[in-house]
Amino acid sequence: MAGIYIHIPFCKSRCIYCDFFTSTNEAEMDKYVQALCKEISDRKDEVTDDLIKTIYIGGGTPSRLQHNHFESIFNAINKSYTIATNVEVTIESNPDDLSHDYVDMLRDLPFNRISIGIQSFDDQELNFLSRRHDANRAKEAVKYCQEKGFDNISIDLMYGLPKQTLAIWQETLRQALQLNIQHISAYHLIYEEKTRLYSLLQAGKVNPVEEDSSLEMFEVLIQTLSDAGFMHYEISNFAKPGFISQHNSSYWTGEKYLGFGPSAHSFDGEHRWWNVSSMPKYIEGINNSNLEIEKEDIDLTTKYNEYIITGLRTMWGIDLDELKMKFGEDLYDYFLLNAQRYFDLHYLKRENSSVALTHKGIFISDGIMSDLMKV
Ligand code: SF4
Repeated sequence: MAGIYIHIPFCKSRCIYCDFFTSTNEAEMDKYVQALCKEISDRKDEVTDDLIKTIYIGGGTPSRLQHNHFESIFNAINKSYTIATNVEVTIESNPDDLSHDYVDMLRDLPFNRISIGIQSFDDQELNFLSRRHDANRAKEAVKYCQEKGFDNISIDLMYGLPKQTLAIWQETLRQALQLNIQHISAYHLIYEEKTRLYSLLQAGKVNPVEEDSSLEMFEVLIQTLSDAGFMHYEISNFAKPGFISQHNSSYWTGEKYLGFGPSAHSFDGEHRWWNVSSMPKYIEGINNSNLEIEKEDIDLTTKYNEYIITGLRTMWGIDLDELKMKFGEDLYDYFLLNAQRYFDLHYLKRENSSVALTHKGIFISDGIMSDLMKV
């Protein structure tokens, strides 16, 4: 089994906190989609024996594309890969793009999951983040998707914003739950270098929330969504039963994936490689069949470290038998030796052969993971 990720590096405008590889020059879209389809077809021999079980169109803002673009992309995928009958097909979208007509058009395509970047239901926060939509637009977008039959809807939320109080965050969560959606991804705001937000921070014009407030917001997030019937299946992800993201889960379980488009990463179980992060170089490289890529061979220690990080982020944790089989006695012993104090302090729990973070362990997960990694 394998997954396909397609990067759509266009956004109508740029959000204050974003450091993703995106461009606001939408005039390049037709040329870009042509190159993308060529890449999809050129690389068809990379997963000859694998059924494609997830397709994820992310960005950027894929909801800037039009019907003909999607049609070309799906034609290229269908011609070159064998697709599982129960394939999960996700599109990331901006609420501002999800008009009645646009959602109608999406339903005409193979999408069966829609992820909507809402971030907040507080208009002042949305304005601060330079999001294009307001809270009402976001709610309407979800409603249109539901009316048109999307029954697997995920929304993204963001917490730990400057000036965000616990009461504002609780209100955002309350409004999210009223929408009757199936999946929520919630991320703490990060001050990434080279963003406008980072410049504001450097200039002393924004104050990050206190660490205690961040932890309190995370605690409220977990409690509120658990009470509402969501499974906390990964540190930042919550799903109603039956609606775990298959695509994201495959990253955490080490499955193969092919990434298409500039900056997109691919993984074949042994190596990871990624395309050049430049639109002109990408288009030229694809058209001349000499695309610039960077490649990383993953040695045993790196693989072990990734296994620890990705495993412990999930509610399933790490399987000790698998750990021993994949990485050998030495790394297995190293793990148990370093994990012992976290078992004693009840930050890690062990059930049969599986080891996972406890509720209180989730709050110091970064420290636990780094202690369990091999340097
Ligand atoms: S819409 Fe998404 S990808 Fe585009 S600038 Fe905003 S956060 Fe970044």
